[in-house]
Amino acid sequence: MSARHSYAPVIEMLVNGLHGAAIVLDREGRVIAFNGEAASIAPALRHGEPALISLRMPELVEAIRRAGKRREPQRVEFFERVPTDRWFEAFVTPVRLPAGDGADDLVLLTFNDLTPLRRVEEMRADFIANASHELRTPLAALLGFIETLQGPARNDTGAREKFLAIMQQQATRMARLIDDLLSLSRIELNAHLQPSTRVELAPIVRQVVDGLMTLARDRDVEVAVTAPQEALVVLGDRDELIRAIENLVENALKYGAAGRRVDVTLARGQTRSGAPEARISVRDFGPGIAPEHLPRLTERFYRVDVSDSRAQGGTGLGLALVKHVLNRHGGRLTIESTLGQGAAFTMHLPLSSTGDPASAENIDKSAP
Ligand code: ADP
Repeated sequence: MSARHSYAPVIEMLVNGLHGAAIVLDREGRVIAFNGEAASIAPALRHGEPALISLRMPELVEAIRRAGKRREPQRVEFFERVPTDRWFEAFVTPVRLPAGDGADDLVLLTFNDLTPLRRVEEMRADFIANASHELRTPLAALLGFIETLQGPARNDTGAREKFLAIMQQQATRMARLIDDLLSLSRIELNAHLQPSTRVELAPIVRQVVDGLMTLARDRDVEVAVTAPQEALVVLGDRDELIRAIENLVENALKYGAAGRRVDVTLARGQTRSGAPEARISVRDFGPGIAPEHLPRLTERFYRVDVSDSRAQGGTGLGLALVKHVLNRHGGRLTIESTLGQGAAFTMHLPLSSTGDPASAENIDKSAP
């Protein structure tokens, strides 16, 4: 029995204790040890068999050859399509044992899963491309009108008035977009900080609806608010909650105006695990949303109808903002819709444990 077989069990134990996939080969490239994560990357791995057969990734096989020849560590990246798209980096490290003639030398393969990192990079690149595109459209319009006003329409008072109005609209859109982008990044930065201020929901729901009465009248929509007698209190960031409710009511007024009615309901409910929660639901009776769009609505810049959203002054960031606000508050957003019958967006927020009716009375009493 060769020396390397005697320490194989120890190597196996060490490899099993490592985080991330790891494989140990002998000098001839036969598999001595591997852990479960390695088996999930290369299911064909077998003890005692040549690794070059079970490792199908050509980049990796090449790196093992290089490491063996040069006796130097190698790093390679490779991509796996099956069972799902995954990116890895692998380190191939020759391990020279101090005693002996080199016959017992080993090669250690360790792997890092780069997939989450790649996904974040892709998302960031997409996000920048989308944001730039959104800004470029109104900017191009502004530049066009400035040119026209400097040139052909220089002395045309009527055209000037008309163009300035459009320019103001476009500039407002850009300002709104930047505002939404900044809000999103602020909320994301604070994502790990649980808000700790006690916020009673009924007053802010009413405040939001009051603030949108002009828009409701413009759109000829009746808004009805229903709230329970008891005070529903959450631990929250007041401004963020207002912003989220505002987005939902505004969307209902913008996209669901055809239904002429919007119901805003605040109610006590229960999470699936039975914990008490507050539900703020905004229901419209407009055209509704086709089911295939529902799962994607909270993605940044996702719109069902881009030109409709733009015409309404939308940025495509509203529901992304709502989702992030709710995440930060330990809550969630649910969306129900039937085409032709309207849509209901519901914010679920965990109730503050001190927000039970008894302590809510305390708030009411201490209120001025
Ligand atoms: P936007 O700034 O475009 O309004 P949002 O993220 O708030 O962005 O909404 C994303 C898309 O979801 C909208 O462009 C619209 O297509 C759709 N949507 C949102 N609310 C409603 C609603 N109440 N009825 C129908 N469609 C809606």
